[in-house]
Amino acid sequence: MLRQFHDIAINQLRVDPKTMAEAEVLARTKNVLLVHALIRLKAADSNKLLAAWAHCHKLQIADLDAMDIPADIIQLIQDQVARQARAIPIDRVGNNIIVAVENPHDLNTINLLQLKTGYSLKTVLASEEKIVKALARYYPQRGLELDKYTKSNATQLRNKPLESRLVIDESSSADDGPVNDLINRIMMVCLQRGASDIHVEPYENYMRVRLRIDGALQEIARPPAHMKAAMASRLKVMAGLKIEEKRLPQDGQISVTIEGRPIDFRINTLPTWHGEKVVLRILDKSSLQVDMTKLGFEADDLRRFKDSIHKPYGMVFVTGPTGSGKTTTLYSALAELNQVSDNIMTAEDPVEFTLDGINQVHIRAEFGLTFADALKAFLRQDPDIIMVGEVRDRETGEIAIKAALTGHMVLSTLHTNSAADTIVRLQNMGLESFNLISALQCVVAQRLARRICANCKILDTSIKPDYLVSLGVPRDVAATAKVHKGKGCELCGGTGMKGRVAIHEVMVMNDELRAAIMRTAPAMELKAIGMRHGMRTLRQNGLIKMLRGEMDALEVVSNTAADDEAEQSGYHAA
Ligand SMILES: [Zn+2]
Repeated sequence: MLRQFHDIAINQLRVDPKTMAEAEVLARTKNVLLVHALIRLKAADSNKLLAAWAHCHKLQIADLDAMDIPADIIQLIQDQVARQARAIPIDRVGNNIIVAVENPHDLNTINLLQLKTGYSLKTVLASEEKIVKALARYYPQRGLELDKYTKSNATQLRNKPLESRLVIDESSSADDGPVNDLINRIMMVCLQRGASDIHVEPYENYMRVRLRIDGALQEIARPPAHMKAAMASRLKVMAGLKIEEKRLPQDGQISVTIEGRPIDFRINTLPTWHGEKVVLRILDKSSLQVDMTKLGFEADDLRRFKDSIHKPYGMVFVTGPTGSGKTTTLYSALAELNQVSDNIMTAEDPVEFTLDGINQVHIRAEFGLTFADALKAFLRQDPDIIMVGEVRDRETGEIAIKAALTGHMVLSTLHTNSAADTIVRLQNMGLESFNLISALQCVVAQRLARRICANCKILDTSIKPDYLVSLGVPRDVAATAKVHKGKGCELCGGTGMKGRVAIHEVMVMNDELRAAIMRTAPAMELKAIGMRHGMRTLRQNGLIKMLRGEMDALEVVSNTAADDEAEQSGYHAA
């Protein structure tokens, strides 16, 4: 086989024999396949070399550049393992994963992958270069490096321990140097700790820097008062705002590159009594979770939600208060639906993330472009799928329904507490019940709760079975249930919580619900019908996550209070 390859390489691909000898040494000393050594030495066209090698060794080739590997395949191999084995999963057939590697016959790699994944392996050949590119594409490193603004001390920053509080030299001057350094450090800590917003606040005798982490603000620094003006000015320069304008609020955007990841911050300045307050909101595209399986839906709920959005036409609502993760769920639905054959249009206020292949329109009511206007324009643009940021009024609702009834899938949000409340709200808005039941496919109510910190998770022995029963846990389950909480540690800043977990309530339309909507039944009754048809309430889904050790009891209760009130008012679903 090797002989045959030699012949093809030298006689057909015109590899110089001297280069061949060099490649053989390289292959032996670097422990790589001869073909990769030849490619490294640019002995001939890399695709042809690879094809010849595959032919002689009866291997298949994976052209990783030309593939779009779905996330559920990628996650079959953990990123660490993928990087160690330099392997990219490309497909799954039954209990076999097909994996692209540099050496398909290397038993160490095959054993490692089988051990780590629990699957049998079928290996295919790929070039070193394409594997490196694919690793960077599918397993991006979540490192921390502010290269655009801190090239010189990037390494130093990366090696810094996780800071929960910034130490500031009180004698720092208001010159550019210390101010730049402080802003860089604040952005670093923001990323390290997974914060969503940075608040830079001026007070009379000091400044305060706070980060919003998992929904709650935490103070990380108190810079001296004399840095107030310089901090605001520097941030305004970075965002291209007018520095001399200090009396009016301004909006802008800052773009930095951190460890190869482009990070955008939306910035807003506001004149306060003691100076300009600046708020930055991180728009980290790589953190946008568009993979639906990672949204935290229970498996059956995800299936029902997916079935609904894949219907040829109709309306699907995702509802909840501000900060409940509605937008993320809608974006992941759009990503799921995003196919070349479909024209997808969105009207958003504002456009938070840009998605490839989707026409996104920024609603500007102040210039006379409302949700209703955008929707009307969309209908003249031959859409298949439409997302409306929010149905705020009857006009928008009516056009959305009309779009749904004329063969389009319409996704939208509302600020309501529950799935059943959403239907009542739409009726109260003045929408015709008959049109509503014809268009509506599904309503998902959502909350974003805080997850117990995995690093300091302990049993919560204060929770007694009787209390669990009062929350709605069946008595036999409650008797042996284990409930956890976070004790508080360095990693979670002492809060006992790290990360988020979404809770859902998925109400899919059925004939009984449609009949109830036609006779304008109250929300309680709609909820009861939904539950008879398999809907779990937010509370019930929260309890499932609590018993699985993802959330503590207080988080469940505080995020699903609406279901509690229903129980106390003597209402029983069964
Ligand atoms: Zn912790």
